[in-house]
Amino acid sequence: MNRLEFIVEELVTANRILANEGIVDSFGHVSARHPDKPQHYLLSRARAPERIERDDIVEFGLDGSAIDERGRAPYLERFIHGAIYEQRPDVHAVVHNHSPSVIPFGVTGKKLKPLLHMCASIGHEVPIWDSRDKFGDTTLLVSDMAMGRDLAGLLGARPATLMRGHGATVVGRSVRHAVFIAVYLEVGAKLQMQAMAMGDIKFLSPGEVDKITARVNDYTLNRAWENWARRAGREMQA
Ligand SMILES: [Zn+2]
Repeated sequence: MNRLEFIVEELVTANRILANEGIVDSFGHVSARHPDKPQHYLLSRARAPERIERDDIVEFGLDGSAIDERGRAPYLERFIHGAIYEQRPDVHAVVHNHSPSVIPFGVTGKKLKPLLHMCASIGHEVPIWDSRDKFGDTTLLVSDMAMGRDLAGLLGARPATLMRGHGATVVGRSVRHAVFIAVYLEVGAKLQMQAMAMGDIKFLSPGEVDKITARVNDYTLNRAWENWARRAGREMQA
């Protein structure tokens, strides 16, 4: 199996995991930077993540144009992915989702921060991108490169951003890393709402976040990935 085939299989598994863990429903998507062509990325055609097969994965240029479309209609919001790959050479995978627990933080302005060690990878504080600030009344969907680049600009060097009234976007150094952060972003948001109902929260300190994040290595990611993959009916690739 070559590098491209490996990444395509990873993407199929990532889609199944994100669906099975409740991070995406019929909507939301995950991409990977092309392993041999860094100015291209791989993303499914427009389809519910739970249903995605190897042949659904399409190659795109960073501007969102399909290289080999073959009648496979793309996601409208693919510009999120290209704009981030364009700005962040360190990023090799992007997850965009509308998972339920992150939404309240995007609309209240209540800061989403890690309170659990497993959630340190979401970053010190998750910023909120509001499409209305620059683009006025829209459908809220990231439907061109201008919106994608504005989102990527707010994301900056961070691992995740919320999107007001819409969802979240998460990036990682690999497909497994981005999926890991996306899952724990949802877990952290849910826990924070529960903790807020009980009283004041003692969040992880910035120093704790840095120390924990530095320890999130392949061992950590693979342990979660193997479990989530099997739960979703997929095997982990070596
Ligand atoms: Zn969306």
